[in-house]
Amino acid sequence: MSLVAIVGRPNVGKSTLFNRLVGQRQAIVDSTAGTTRDRHYGKTDWNGKEFSVIDTGGYTVNSDDIFEDDIRRQVMLAIDEADVILFLVEVSTGITDLDTLMADILRRTTKKVILVCNKVDNYDQIYSSHEFYKLGLGDPYCISSMSGSGTGDLMDAILEALPAETSAQYEDDLPRITIVGRPNVGKSSLTNALLGVERNIVTPVAGTTRDSIHTRYNKFGMDFYLVDTAGMRKKGKVTEDLEFYSVMRSIRAIENSDVCVLMLDAEQGLESQDLNIHNLIVRNRKGCVIVVNKWDLIEKGNNTMKEWREFLMKKLAPFNDIPIIFTSVLNKQRILEVLQTAVRVFQSRKRRIPTSEFNDYILPVIEETPPPSTKGKYIRIKYAMQLPTPTPQFAFFVNLPQYIKEPYRRFLENKIREQWDFSGVPMQLYFRAK
Ligand code: GDP
Repeated sequence: MSLVAIVGRPNVGKSTLFNRLVGQRQAIVDSTAGTTRDRHYGKTDWNGKEFSVIDTGGYTVNSDDIFEDDIRRQVMLAIDEADVILFLVEVSTGITDLDTLMADILRRTTKKVILVCNKVDNYDQIYSSHEFYKLGLGDPYCISSMSGSGTGDLMDAILEALPAETSAQYEDDLPRITIVGRPNVGKSSLTNALLGVERNIVTPVAGTTRDSIHTRYNKFGMDFYLVDTAGMRKKGKVTEDLEFYSVMRSIRAIENSDVCVLMLDAEQGLESQDLNIHNLIVRNRKGCVIVVNKWDLIEKGNNTMKEWREFLMKKLAPFNDIPIIFTSVLNKQRILEVLQTAVRVFQSRKRRIPTSEFNDYILPVIEETPPPSTKGKYIRIKYAMQLPTPTPQFAFFVNLPQYIKEPYRRFLENKIREQWDFSGVPMQLYFRAK
């Protein structure tokens, strides 16, 4: 999927524009997934074409005393990772020094850059916007993110700038696995340990960008693709420590895979950045395996693993039916299990339960625990089925779908998970009037 990045100095209105572009759709996605953690990245579509949008300001210092260096890095990374860059300026301030600095970098890229002049609320301001032509990035698109005026034309311009879709390139049906996580958790070490130095390459397949290169392997009797994480880091470790960088790097890799192995550092525990990555995985409906690495460095009692498991389950709720593996890559402990589990999650994600089998199980469950009646009305689920979608989605046909509430939805999801192995696989449940 294509990625559009919004860049601009602080306070030009990046997050307002982001909300304008993905806002409505985002709200829907969030209510089904039950998550609202990450508000700087989302999917949107326009005329039937879907793409991702990222507000780079959400991940960097977004105050007026931002350093030139931060701005420079923000822009460079957007150039590296995104397909289209929206460079946002503000009409009333005219061209500022930071605008000039960013424009100087953006003029040098071969990526598509769209100059967007924000906070244009009247005709006089359209006139003033001509000044920005001096930035050397063409005519500015005049918009008001607040009222939405001009954003339709901007969407048209974005569509025109997006690269042709290349997602239909995969002909085989093999798992695409990606190891994600913060810097230094051991991603490269795991890749090397699994694949060996010689790497047994069969054929390289390029993803939609040069960054998400999946390489096909045949190892331990399994055929799979793995994103070469080592190839994902081009910059030094210092800059990668910033959340923005690891998020930007992870997004493409996550979008282009089936199963993501989220790696944590046992010594550091779970941090907000890890939760953000987990959230990206769930929002993209990808399979997930959690690996707690550097287990050799942890002092262990009888229940250490159990306590860790319970702690993680609590933190990762609501989507916490996820395999958790404790590894020491250093000692080659349980590393093959990681691969085997990822392949199992891949298979579960593709599972199709025949409609009769599904109803035979779920209808008695519903009969025993029916949805609570609301406002004196009986709510009846008559029939259910798994939809023929690439990821597990289930439809329940109900007389009054609007009265099915979240706790009951969750109850049904848990019952499905008890009966069939969907560990590590996000699922969607829909309630529809017959
Ligand atoms: P990446 O940035 O996630 O790719 O992390 P690296 O693979 O570069 O690993 C970061 C550091 O952690 C390196 O010094 C590794 O040797 C070390 N490391 C990786 N796995 C383990 C482990 O299981 N135990 C210990 N003690 N160190 C590890």
